[in-house]
Amino acid sequence: MLSSRKYRYLTISIDDGHPADLRVAELLARFGLTATFYIPAHNPEREVIMQSQVRQLAANFEIGCHTMHHVPLTSLPESEARSEIHDGKQWTEDTISGPATSFCYPRGKHSRRVARMVRAAGFLGARTVKLNILDAPADPYAWGVSTQAYSHSALVQFRHALVETNLSGLLAYATTFRFAKDWRGHLLTAAEHVAEYGGIVHLFLHGWEVAERDEWRNLEIAVRELADRQQLTCVTNGELFAKWQSLRSTTSDNEASLLANVSRVTKP
Ligand SMILES: [Zn+2]
Repeated sequence: MLSSRKYRYLTISIDDGHPADLRVAELLARFGLTATFYIPAHNPEREVIMQSQVRQLAANFEIGCHTMHHVPLTSLPESEARSEIHDGKQWTEDTISGPATSFCYPRGKHSRRVARMVRAAGFLGARTVKLNILDAPADPYAWGVSTQAYSHSALVQFRHALVETNLSGLLAYATTFRFAKDWRGHLLTAAEHVAEYGGIVHLFLHGWEVAERDEWRNLEIAVRELADRQQLTCVTNGELFAKWQSLRSTTSDNEASLLANVSRVTKP
């Protein structure tokens, strides 16, 4: 529990609802891991699975909202951004006949204004694409991830971190991850760090990227390695967001942010 002040969570999120995500789901189910699939109603760039398939996925996994049209919300006028968020929530809830509590910003693009709209729509938390984050955020509408299942060059990592003003991620990339390029090695470092110091391993991926790069074998090895880590408790993004929120409602803001920072210990 978060209140134990020493938690070790594993959470996995898969974006975009591409048909390849169904193969990811099969793989995760085989290893007994849960996850959150963020699925937009439409995506101008790629195929999205049918609603009946989203419903089937919902039987074993969390379905999170990824808006109606997968357009960066910061590029839209306020009323359109609001519709993308609200209609996306409605579409998800109609599709799965249940509540959608988790949100993911298309392309990770967010701002204070957009985050306020997501909060007002009733989501418990929102995921960004800030990399190299190994713990809960101070702001639940700006959850980062530890690792993307995609090998980024150091240059891309630096650029991402600067664009997203993710300075703590940049610091962790240099100190904890030691500029790791290979994503599986990066993930392993995250898992080892969290097993030792506490925190959250958050793996995020696009099924279409795994398919395009034919990384299925690599993904299977990574999932097996995660499943073997008995110290990590696997939860959906939504379960994590709910824990964050319940913690905040039972403690003072001060204490909540203190707890959010508890495992942010720099490796000697
Ligand atoms: Zn996306």
